[in-house]
This record gives sequence, C-alpha cells and structure tokens, in this order.
Amino acid sequence: MKDPKDRLDDLRVDVERRNPAQPEFHQAVREVLDTLAPVFAARPEYADPAVALVERLLEPERQIVFRVPWTDDRGRVHVNRGYRVEFNSALGPFKGGLRFHPSVDIGVVKFLGFEQVFKNALTGLGIGGGKGGSDFDPHGRSDAEVMRFCQSFMTELYRHIGEHTDVPAGDIGVGGREIGYLFGQYRRITNRWEAGVLTGKGVGWGGSAIRPEATGYGSVLFAAEMLAVRGTVLDGLTAVVSGSGNVALYTIEKLQQLGANPLTASDSQGYVIDDKGIDLALLRQIKEVERGRVSEYAQRRGGSARFIPGGRVWEVPADVAFPSATQNELTEADALALVRGGVQAVSEGANMPTTPAAVRFFQQSGIAFGPGKAANAGGVAVSALEMAQNAGRVSWTAQRVEDELASIMRSIHAVAHETAARYDAPGDYVTGANIAGFERVADALLAQGVI
Ligand code: NDP
Repeated sequence: MKDPKDRLDDLRVDVERRNPAQPEFHQAVREVLDTLAPVFAARPEYADPAVALVERLLEPERQIVFRVPWTDDRGRVHVNRGYRVEFNSALGPFKGGLRFHPSVDIGVVKFLGFEQVFKNALTGLGIGGGKGGSDFDPHGRSDAEVMRFCQSFMTELYRHIGEHTDVPAGDIGVGGREIGYLFGQYRRITNRWEAGVLTGKGVGWGGSAIRPEATGYGSVLFAAEMLAVRGTVLDGLTAVVSGSGNVALYTIEKLQQLGANPLTASDSQGYVIDDKGIDLALLRQIKEVERGRVSEYAQRRGGSARFIPGGRVWEVPADVAFPSATQNELTEADALALVRGGVQAVSEGANMPTTPAAVRFFQQSGIAFGPGKAANAGGVAVSALEMAQNAGRVSWTAQRVEDELASIMRSIHAVAHETAARYDAPGDYVTGANIAGFERVADALLAQGVI
C-alpha cells in the first residue's frame, strides 16, 4: 500500500486535472485532503485505490446546469445560468443552499457542495450534501424582477428536487423573499403541498422558528465553546464581524445577548466601525427592510460610527472575529493584523472565508480557529429540524428549536475537539471536523456498496 501522503497527493493532482479552472473547488478539496493522512494510516480501507472510496467522495453524484431566462421591468429579456450540484446522498437527501451572486459558477457551487457533505455529516442529522445557485445579481432588482427570476429558476429546478431527494435552502442573495417565490412556483407546478422540499420558509407556512437566526447564533455558540475550553467567556469581549447579511446580523444579535460588543459590519463596498457597538435595530432597518448599504448606517448613526470605503474589518483590534460574508475574505495579512490586535478566537460564519495561509497562521499563533464546516453548521442543522417538523406536520416553539440548536452546536464542538485529540492534533478543529465528517460519510458509502 502506498504511503498515505503519496496517495493523497495523487488524489489532489487528479482532482485538479479532471476539474480545470475551478480554483475554489481545488482549495476546498486540498483543505480536506491535507488533514486525512492520519485517518488513512489508521484505517487503510479508506485509502485503498482498488475501493476508490475517496474518488467517489470527490465526484458529485449529479451536476445540473440550466438556462434561466427572465424578463426585467422594462421588458428586456436576460439569460442567467442555474446550477444544482447533488454531491453526496449517502447519509440522507441532498441538502444545501442556493446562492444568487454574479461570482457563481460551477467551481463555486462544487466547493460549497463538497464542504456541505462533511458539515451535514457533522450535525448527525441524516442529511446528504448539495448546493446550487445562479450568476443572477439581485442587487438593485425590484421585487417583481426577483420573483420572475425565481419562478424561471424553479421551472427547471423543480424536476430535480423533493423532500426525499434534494432539499435546497438560502445562501448569499437568497433569503426569505426568494424562498417564498421559489416555494410558490414549486407548489404551482407540482400541485403538491410538499413543505419539506425547501427550508428557510416563513414561519406561517411551514418554516421553522429560529431558522433565520440559526447560522449566526450557531457560529457564536461555537466560539463560546472554543473559549470555554480555554477558560474564557464571551461576556465583556469585543468582536469584529464581516458582512451584513443573514449570518452577520444574527451573529451580532447573539454576541450582544451574551454580553459581547460587536464593533463592525461590512458589505462589498467597505465597512462600518461603531465605537459604541453596532446598533442592531438601525442596521436591520437598513439591510433587511430598506435593502440598503452599510455606508448609510454611518450617516444615520451619528458621531460614534464611521464608514471606511474599501476597508477590511480585520484591521480593527478585537478579542474575537467572525468572518461572515464570503470565501477568501480573510487573508494571511488580515490574520496578522488580527493577531497583532489581540484576537483569541475566530469562528467562520461564512464558508471558507479564511485563506489556507491565514488558517495556518492562526493555528501557529495558538488562536482558537473554528472552521465553517463546524462553526456555521447551525443553519443547516435547523433546516434539518424544519424538515422534521414538516414531516410531522407540527411547529416547535422558538425556545425548543433554540435549545436543540445549542445542544447540536455543543455536540459538533465536542466531536471536532475529541476527534482532533484522537488523531494527535489537539485543539485543531480543522482536522477534527474534517476527519469526523469524513468517517461518517465514508462508513456509510462503504456499507452501501459500489455506488
Ligand atoms: P447574505 O446574502 O445575506 O449576505 C452576504 C453578505 O456578504 C452581504 O453583506 C454581502 O455584501 C457580503 N458579500 C457577499 N459577497 C461578497 C463579496 N464577494 N465581497 C464582499 N462582500 C460580499 O448571505 P448570508 O449571510 O446568507 O451568507 C454569508 C456567508 O455565510 C456565505 O459564505 C454563506 O455561504 C455562508 N452560510 C450561510 C448560511 C445561511 O444559513 N444563510 C449557512 C451557512 C453558511 P453585498 O450586499 O455588498 O454583496
């Protein structure tokens, strides 16, 4: 049998050759493969080329690409591209969000789908991994335009999804409004009330309490668990948060509930710093109600807040950091600035927001680093709870869902922490989360034969 490191190198080279021009997918694969050597050494059946287990994990079960034509308010026709990558269903129906952003291409969707497989396995809730989206840009589009786009998107997607097959949810650019339009069109085309086909629905029509809050809340709870291991609490700490969307807003809310002081929020144009701490009601009014920019926050907040155009929140000194916008938004230089500023813990609300060099720098500097696969799994976990409620035609109270979320985040932290220790990498949550997720999916695949 080959040395595990050589086998992993072969796999990486093969993925890059077979999936050209997909840098985000290569990055996500490399990040997982880099942590698997100890598990290959301990369990040679995982590494055996004759079984091709990892090759099967690296190849999506199905990749769907489709045309999405739609008409704007002036009668002009636009054509976008839609994607759904059904990555792995060994543990349950494909599950993962839809992203509407101009940067979306097949490589981005595959990176997100690949990450989702391991994240969903970590939740222990019986969900496989998938992801989808479109290069459609919702910024500046009217409600009617977004509705027509969503209806056209679902007119193709509906034939591929279902409560037992594939269950999409939101992601960047897809929130409650878009899920409503998508669900309405699914229902109309299929003539079925199949609530469990999408998650992130409104609470009045099949949605779960706490689903909008879940990713941000979970990311803060994960940080609290990492700090507890080090004998610290969030109460009284300062925080930097990037983004100002779903994940960022509820990260800020939970931080404030736990007595921490979030100082920043950002969007693609720059960031705001508020010396008094973010006024969440004002930020929500601007982002959720008016769908405006964070720069408006500084104008309306008065003296304590400033907008830094083009700036990065990581230059603000703080005790804890929550990258909650998008991939590769926190570089090695940013990590250096954060460590100089005294950061103790980093919890990834976004998917793959920290570059590999920055992750290494945090780990070498002894900073508690929570990778997105573990730290932001609260969102998909509550989506799975939404599916459970839909299947039983019941609605749980917000308190019950929040208690379940807290218990799931504690358990994800414990599994990642214990697995890292078991494989001689104490405190390394990247290794712990990757191996724990990998073992669950790998064992299911092996048990189910050559599929
Ligand atoms: P939203 O669309 O609600 O918000 C995204 C935020 O990130 C906005 O402030 C946006 O600013 C900013 N942003 C997006 N792209 C870029 C970019 N290229 N450069 C700079 N800023 C950018 O998305 P979510 O909050 O739902 O998602 C944020 C992250 O969290 C993503 O990585 C997503 O995959 C991840 N995630 C989300 C989950 C969920 O439940 N929603 C679950 C798990 C992970 P602007 O408006 O200017 O584009």
